[in-house]
Amino acid sequence: MKIILLGAPFSGKGTLARNIMKDFNIVQISTGDLFRENIKNGTKIGLEAKSYMDKGELVPDTVTIKMLEARLKEKDCKNGFILDGFPRSIPQAEALKKITDIDTVIELDVPLDEIKRRCVGRRICSKCGEIYNTSSYDKSTCSKCGAPLFQRDDDNLETITLRLEVYEKTTAPLINFYADKLYVAKGSQKGPEETYKPVKNFLMGLKK
Ligand code: AMP
Repeated sequence: MKIILLGAPFSGKGTLARNIMKDFNIVQISTGDLFRENIKNGTKIGLEAKSYMDKGELVPDTVTIKMLEARLKEKDCKNGFILDGFPRSIPQAEALKKITDIDTVIELDVPLDEIKRRCVGRRICSKCGEIYNTSSYDKSTCSKCGAPLFQRDDDNLETITLRLEVYEKTTAPLINFYADKLYVAKGSQKGPEETYKPVKNFLMGLKK
């Protein structure tokens, strides 16, 4: 199954993707994670991406699309994948069309108030990638694997505002672009598990 996840920053795409990944045996491909990995390893891609990411802007398509295309050729994508954070613009969606077909597009719809509430509290496990929020979890280590949690460099108020603007202007038009493949998932106030339930049922139906 090949899935695209759409949603504003902090809508919970990463957490939803991790749930889907476990149940449907497909890999999560986050272009943001790929960039962060490249930055950590000091690669040319990482060097180029960092200045854009620090400002909350999109990394240019020439870099992003090439990186994504190479990742999709890897063996673990054979069974399918969930794209988390790609495409982020109509030109990227056009480019993706030439690379592969997609079965469904899930839009994670979360009210702006809730997104703003989550922004600065996000913490991520440095080892297993589990995502937390300080509003509901106040420890500094992961409850699953015990590794320290960290806050992303770009999770600060200045870049967050810009990232939300970029989403509205450049990424949200994809909701219309993919109208014929779109499934809208409402982010539940009750937490990620409740958000995931209907999505799981929908994907189960699609698999049959
Ligand atoms: P994310 O982890 O998805 O929130 O992405 C973090 C940052 O990585 C974004 O603010 C962009 O600077 C960059 N990025 C991630 N995915 C893309 C993409 N598809 N196109 C351009 N830039 C991206």
